[in-house]
Amino acid sequence: MKAAIISAEWSPRPDYAVTPEENRTHMARVGSSCWKHPSAAVATLPDPTPGPDDVILKVAAAGLCGSDLHFFETDGDGYMQYPGMARFPSVPGHEVSGEVVATGAGVKYLKPGDLVCLDDMVCCHKCEACRRGFPNQCENLDDVGFTMNGGCAELLKVPESNCWKINHLVARFGSKAKTLEAGAVIEPFTVGYNALFECAARIKPGAYATVFGAGSIGLAVIQLLRATGATKVLCFERNPGRRALATKVGAHAVHDANADPAATAAIVMAATEGAGADVQVECAGAFNSSLPAMEACAANGSQVVVIGRDPARVPVFLESYQVKKANIVGAMGNTGHGTYPNVLRMMAAGLLDPTLFITDRFPLDDFNGALKTAQSRQGGKVLLKIGG
Ligand SMILES: [Zn+2]
Ligand SMILES: [Zn+2]
Repeated sequence: MKAAIISAEWSPRPDYAVTPEENRTHMARVGSSCWKHPSAAVATLPDPTPGPDDVILKVAAAGLCGSDLHFFETDGDGYMQYPGMARFPSVPGHEVSGEVVATGAGVKYLKPGDLVCLDDMVCCHKCEACRRGFPNQCENLDDVGFTMNGGCAELLKVPESNCWKINHLVARFGSKAKTLEAGAVIEPFTVGYNALFECAARIKPGAYATVFGAGSIGLAVIQLLRATGATKVLCFERNPGRRALATKVGAHAVHDANADPAATAAIVMAATEGAGADVQVECAGAFNSSLPAMEACAANGSQVVVIGRDPARVPVFLESYQVKKANIVGAMGNTGHGTYPNVLRMMAAGLLDPTLFITDRFPLDDFNGALKTAQSRQGGKVLLKIGG
């Protein structure tokens, strides 16, 4: 099969105490101290064969997202800044749709011909975190497209239990082709749903909301908030193309992200007649400008939900959270808790539409072109159209 392959050089920094285990497995505790000079190319790999509980998908589409782009961000010495636990060479792609073409002997619920989307988080279901109901915190997590080969390939081997059927969405989207495009953009909605309705609390219809950042997750969050009755959704985003998409998916007002938190907060206070925002979602990974703004325009009971990633520490004045009974909520992941099936129900009911922000499509052969477009961070979702 053809696949996009990310390569990098295993070259632990001289001052990094590499363990024999790391040298053997190349799974590094601190990958940014071990992997250098990432590059991508399209090449041929052996076709995967399913284990007993696996299915093989003929990949239809794979979305590129911020975490894929992080693979190519390097420091002055050429070291990858965010390789996570990935091992190279590896196939990226965790936002995937496809058609089942083969099933292992133990597969129960899927059959060839089923259309599915992928839940990329392969939890062990054995560790303390999993068994306590924290699958997103699994201690032995495998992540398709990071620690396992992903979907930027013609074929993908994944556990049956990481697939969700989307056959029924053909009635909603009108064609198999459009359904499979939408199917590759379900993951950002599950990230948003997990943050808003599993991690946060007290999000009520009628809420005033702010969304910082209008990448795919921000755009999904805007739709989720609208679908669940937010009456004002204000979005702050630097890029004009993304601001247009935020309007398209239903934000009531969209503003250029302002580096001055006080100016941003003033916009929110004016738009809410002084009430402030009940729900505030960080999807920008720009904590030093967004968190102080959110703090300054928090309504009583405000939920400040942090999805974006940013290595910066941010000064937070906790007393303002105390006096407002406000919460800062950390959110990561998208699996478990009925998140996927509920997002799929909302999609089937017409409440969510990922096709509104698919802006660019590339063939697998032009993986590097797709990457370049995604790296410009101008538009919405960049899709690789592979087999459908
Ligand atoms: Zn993603
Ligand atoms: Zn686990």
